[in-house]
Amino acid sequence: MAEMMLRRTKADQVEPVYRKFTEAFPTAASCAAVPRRSIKKLLAPLGLKWRAAHMLETIDHLRDHYALRAPSQADNLRPIPGVGEYANSMLRNRLFGEPLPALDSNMARLICRVSGLNFGPESRRNRVVKEIAGELVRTARSADLNLAVLDFSALVCKPRSPLCGQCPLVSKCQYAAVSGKVHASRER
Ligand code: SF4
Repeated sequence: MAEMMLRRTKADQVEPVYRKFTEAFPTAASCAAVPRRSIKKLLAPLGLKWRAAHMLETIDHLRDHYALRAPSQADNLRPIPGVGEYANSMLRNRLFGEPLPALDSNMARLICRVSGLNFGPESRRNRVVKEIAGELVRTARSADLNLAVLDFSALVCKPRSPLCGQCPLVSKCQYAAVSGKVHASRER
């Protein structure tokens, strides 16, 4: 549910809605029991009308295929509505500890910049980017690493105006070398 709320929406906007949502509907069964309009109303502040529809589809799927229990590691999560490649990796990593990268555009941007690859909207599907992301999460703390990369991309390696002068990766980063940010950071 959190992943669905975070789609194309900032975390600080999601936080109060997520809190209200989980207080009102602490279980899948409680979601399934309320009128659909209650869920739509709770999600309304986040915008994007399709979000509520997707969430309701997910709840229906959990009711019809899982009897409203949480899926287990043996289950294939991809048929669950709203679970694409990114959500599948994130969920399997968070829930079952599988070393899968949460490869969204933020992680792809960071990988492309450090490795000197061109970055674009489809970079998260690039084979080389996927391979590097897979290497990154080969660690006992892959869940922490996924979250750390998300935070790092939002706070330091930002889409516009990355803070190369404060970045611990600056000496290894191709983007910083090409854009002259290495010199800028060393002079500070
Ligand atoms: S040096 Fe700059 S571009 Fe490179 S990873 Fe750090 S913030 Fe991103």
